[in-house]
Amino acid sequence: MNMTEPGQFIEAVLRGKLTQAESMRRHTSWRAGGAVDRCYQPADLDDLRVYLCGLPANEQVIAVGLGSNLLVRDGGLRGTVLLMHGALSELKLDSCGLIYVQAGVAGAKLARFAALHNLSGAEFCAGIPGTVGGMLAMNAGCYGSEIWQYVVKVQVVTRSGELMTRTPQEYDIGYRSVSLKLATPEEFFVGAWLSFESGDGDESRQKIKALLAKRISSQPLNLPNAGSVFRNPPGDHAARLIESCGIKGLRMGGAQVSEKHANFIVNSGGATAENIERLISMVQETVMNQTGIQLHTEVKIIGDTKIMKKSASLTPDSASLTEDARAFGKVAVLFGGSSAEREVSLKSGAAVLAALLRSGVDAHAFDPSIRNLQSLVDEGFDRAFIALHGRFGEDGTVQGALELLGIPYTGSGVMASALGMDKWRSKLVWQAGGLPVPDFVMLDEHSVSTDVVHTLGLPLFVKPANEGSSVGISKVKAENELQAAYAEAVRHDRLVIAERFIGGGEYTVAILGKQALPVIKIEPANEFYDYEAKYLRDDTRYQCPSGLDVARENEMQRLAILAFTLIGGQGWGRIDFLMSESGHPYVLEANTSPGMTDHSLVPMAARQAGISFDELVLRVLGGAHVG
Ligand SMILES: Cc1cc2nc3c(=O)[nH]c(=O)nc-3n(C[C@H](O)[C@H](O)[C@H](O)COP(=O)(O)OP(=O)(O)OC[C@H]3O[C@@H](n4cnc5c(N)ncnc54)[C@H](O)[C@@H]3O)c2cc1C
Repeated sequence: MNMTEPGQFIEAVLRGKLTQAESMRRHTSWRAGGAVDRCYQPADLDDLRVYLCGLPANEQVIAVGLGSNLLVRDGGLRGTVLLMHGALSELKLDSCGLIYVQAGVAGAKLARFAALHNLSGAEFCAGIPGTVGGMLAMNAGCYGSEIWQYVVKVQVVTRSGELMTRTPQEYDIGYRSVSLKLATPEEFFVGAWLSFESGDGDESRQKIKALLAKRISSQPLNLPNAGSVFRNPPGDHAARLIESCGIKGLRMGGAQVSEKHANFIVNSGGATAENIERLISMVQETVMNQTGIQLHTEVKIIGDTKIMKKSASLTPDSASLTEDARAFGKVAVLFGGSSAEREVSLKSGAAVLAALLRSGVDAHAFDPSIRNLQSLVDEGFDRAFIALHGRFGEDGTVQGALELLGIPYTGSGVMASALGMDKWRSKLVWQAGGLPVPDFVMLDEHSVSTDVVHTLGLPLFVKPANEGSSVGISKVKAENELQAAYAEAVRHDRLVIAERFIGGGEYTVAILGKQALPVIKIEPANEFYDYEAKYLRDDTRYQCPSGLDVARENEMQRLAILAFTLIGGQGWGRIDFLMSESGHPYVLEANTSPGMTDHSLVPMAARQAGISFDELVLRVLGGAHVG
């Protein structure tokens, strides 16, 4: 490496971890917000000083502890975030009996350390889920104690890397606020010497236990939050005021005023920073209107309001989509899975992953049959592309899990996925909505073959209600074949459906956003369009354009959109049709996570509409959502 430039020399000696475009969702307890340009987690105090002195003078720098009092807007932060937690972690008792604690140490650890050394007074720190640096910056406290009551002196590092000590007298210290009396250049807390009375360690541990139990019973700790959002106004409590206005439970997107503690706003799944900030304003306005009291935020709100393009609209050109690829953040392509369609999913996922990587997206393979979905959160994934088919992928289960984890995902939500997967219930919904569906009856072990044949005629189809890709389907041409067909279908699902044969051709309509793509006509070389024809054979013929006249093509597209809308479909999908010999279309079934292999139909229809495979994949990803 050429080390003639000072910057390069400094980079070479740094020992910490520098990341670019780091999502601040990973570093804030609200699990929301945009990305920061650069994030540096120093190896130790010396390393931090080296890093700071090498930064350009105009670089904005912000210290972040555990992000438990921080909202980073969706547009993210320009400049550098210094991650103190896990970095500045020294904690010791010095020769004068003072505790020296560095800024990255968690409050709870400080409380336990004090108890271990029979020092009393630090117990309150156990209830504050932040770092000592954050506590010093906020003058954090609870149950009558505040951190600055115990500070003898603090250690700070200036923006240019100079180390200094300061006394409390140099600061204006108030309720949840601390500022230097004299205006000086920017600086960050890196450590503090704290003085606690000597006491009884067991008693302290009991106090900590009681304090934590009290918090668990009174705070919504099961959902991401940032503690009390508003400062208590003089002589009153923000929580009481909010509750008196009747707005507990008020929602904005995935953000909600907690039902358990009115001064908490929780991320109940997929909340954006914008959702949270708008809810904060709504609470302030309501309290002001009803009580005349202005609530001020205790949480720090920083960053750009400009929202990075998370959803690509239906019309952008491919250049702008590619430009936005980095804004998707870290993307998991979920594929494989444990359904009967695993093999197809592996192919779909590989194609999707390759397309995302070609487009510059930070995409990674993720097989939920091997890995726990919780890792998506632990590893800081920003969204998931679902390339799973069949059960546990297309049926609402994985969608439900992602909702709970707050990870935006592609395609339909829980209900539409479950309905789309169920060939019986989706037909009931379409029938109720006035759409034409082939006649059908449900089969069980008591069904009388003669009656079924009498109702539906021959040939007829027998299929499991909840399998995709034509798994377990038989075409029954004679009454005596019905029982065997039922036995085959019931191996795959306890709900089995028999359906009238409609012989004028098979068609499918892909849907992207709110747009129906050109119709495809399917001409299988074998009996019907089964699993083998769909994914394995090369002699199935697809016609796109379909050969239908314009009126019929338009009608089928209209029915497809209607069928997709009736089941609540989102993002993308496919609706399959049968055509009667007299030219009437019947809605057959929905696919809410269609195949993306080289044989697949959505990419084929997209191509016909002038949308490349890579662009299609980006558009589907652009529709990722929660809720
Ligand atoms: C469930 C829950 C309960 C809470 N209960 C309480 C409570 O009882 N009492 C209370 O006071 N707070 C409470 N909080 C809020 C929060 O934990 C505290 O404000 C805590 O001190 C923040 O520490 P942090 O490390 O997470 O700081 P962050 O949220 O990371 O940062 C907060 C602010 O401090 C600045 N900062 C962080 N580190 C430094 C540093 N080293 N030098 C200079 N500035 C820095 C940041 O730039 C930011 O402006 C609670 C939060 C939660 C989620």
